[in-house]
Amino acid sequence: MGKVYLVGAGPGDAELLTLKAARILAAANIVLHDSLVSEEVLAKVSPAAQIIDVGKRCGRKLLTQEEINSLLVAYAATNEVVVRLKGGDPLVFGRAGEELQALREANVHFEIVPGITAALGAAAAAGISLTDRRLASQILFSTFTRRPEANALEWEALSPATTLVLYMPGPDYAEVAVRVQEAGLPADLPCVIVSGATGTQQQIRWTSLANLAREEKLPAPALLIIGRVAARQFQEIAAGFCAEEDNSAVHRTLRAS
Ligand code: SAH
Repeated sequence: MGKVYLVGAGPGDAELLTLKAARILAAANIVLHDSLVSEEVLAKVSPAAQIIDVGKRCGRKLLTQEEINSLLVAYAATNEVVVRLKGGDPLVFGRAGEELQALREANVHFEIVPGITAALGAAAAAGISLTDRRLASQILFSTFTRRPEANALEWEALSPATTLVLYMPGPDYAEVAVRVQEAGLPADLPCVIVSGATGTQQQIRWTSLANLAREEKLPAPALLIIGRVAARQFQEIAAGFCAEEDNSAVHRTLRAS
């Protein structure tokens, strides 16, 4: 009986893999991955391993969740190291709960290796602090869905000091903007769209709730960071401070020498 490793592939840049993830990928017998996982990361997989893309792209499902669950259990019976590789962190919007339940029910050993979730990759790419103490008191990671599901975002939970990170914002940013304003937040609330964070195709757009509907849709995967911390001016001011500090450090060094 083998072991199943639920491994976080991080947001794109392969250097953001944990050392543990890289070690397990290099030792894998079989890897089942999502479409979000970058080529760079897949290059870390043992050349001897079988690699299976179980992801979905543009609504075309390659395998159902039940099929993936059954595959994990079946492969664990014949392989020592089975890797379920997911973009970002495996436990954040990754349906890991269902996979873990299937593994537990089948008495398959498993281990979870965390990864850097897209929200953190995007914040780093945009150079903003999600919890800047001058502007924010809480972070809310959620997704945008129109369906009345149990896990739908409770918009009333938003406060002016919330930094909202919206995964899978869908193609209709206009509705997101309306819902956030209906929750009582101002039209000039800053918002940043980050696409392909930390990867080679990374793109960043600074905007506001009022202008969000007019923004060009950036390629998937993309997410929205909405809140006071998401202001470009703020990021520029912060960058300015850093530059000044760097300069003064250089000047001090020069004076000392
Ligand atoms: N488990 C993943 C999230 C899976 S949900 C994680 O922890 O990051 C998929 C959504 O994540 C995408 O629709 C997008 O909103 C977001 N996402 C994933 N990778 C991203 C990236 N590199 N840049 C921006 N958003 C990303």
